[in-house]
Amino acid sequence: MKKITVIGAGVMGRGIAYTLAISDFDVVIQDISEQALQNAKKQIEKDLEKSISRGYAKVEDREAIAKIVYLEDLEEAGRDADIVIEAVLEDISLKIDVFKKLDAICQPHVIFATNTSTMSPTEIGAQTKRSSQTIAMHFFNPVPRMNLVEVVRGLDTSDETFEKVKQVALQMNKEVVEVSEFPGFVTSRMNCLIGNEAMNMLMEGVASAEDIDKALKLGLNHPMGPLELADLVGLDSRLRNMQYLYETLGEKYRPCPLLIKYVKAGRLGRKSGQGFYKYE
Ligand code: NAD
Repeated sequence: MKKITVIGAGVMGRGIAYTLAISDFDVVIQDISEQALQNAKKQIEKDLEKSISRGYAKVEDREAIAKIVYLEDLEEAGRDADIVIEAVLEDISLKIDVFKKLDAICQPHVIFATNTSTMSPTEIGAQTKRSSQTIAMHFFNPVPRMNLVEVVRGLDTSDETFEKVKQVALQMNKEVVEVSEFPGFVTSRMNCLIGNEAMNMLMEGVASAEDIDKALKLGLNHPMGPLELADLVGLDSRLRNMQYLYETLGEKYRPCPLLIKYVKAGRLGRKSGQGFYKYE
């Protein structure tokens, strides 16, 4: 498990690639968008320099980061991998499409890991010839700083696949929890519900965004408020998660109308400059 290919160079893909590179893996990152790859490279280098200046990373990590290979071509990206970690948009047909293509490209031993927040590794694995080698590795944002990886076993995932993926996460200096597949796993299911309730309260005029977040941080000891966290995740991503949980788990997960309105308005959180808060 030395050579790892990350598919998708967005917020999560680049965080995963960064953390893998400084953990001594050979990393390839692939995206269909040349622009996304350029942005990822810039952001990864910027994050590294910031981490070095704050003492979180070593000067020698520059060498590891410089070795990351950025590719648009999926075939080239998948050819030599030992494990593929997918971090494209939260859309099950898109994820299945990517893994079906990889199934034809990758060598037989290769493990398929999806960084989905909510969706089914069983459903993805069933569309490939390697359901026993398909699993979810759910990382958290920002990947270099968040300690947990939820490792989610699909119906057919083998013990060997679980152990190998767990070792990769441990080498990345992460803690692992083992989860049996169910929509939203442990964290997204809980987090989406809290976030949605906070949005409903804001819509109902119960309190301002600042006071809702302050109440959860100071009263319930959450390190971040649910609305600032949703802005960090991206409101479009959060809406996709809610829609999937609503379809699979029912009424309790109906997305808050305010969330839908914000996404329609292009208020996507930090990445667009405005969500529940405004950003410079
Ligand atoms: P993002 O929008 O920042 O990035 C997605 C990237 O995928 C884009 O660069 C896009 O160009 C690329 N892409 C789209 N189609 C592709 C394809 N066919 N092949 C290769 N690349 C393709 O999204 P994100 O926030 O990084 O989320 C990615 C995944 O991680 C989602 O499944 C999401 O649910 C999950 N996730 C997100 C967070 C978070 O906080 N954002 C946390 C945990 C898990």
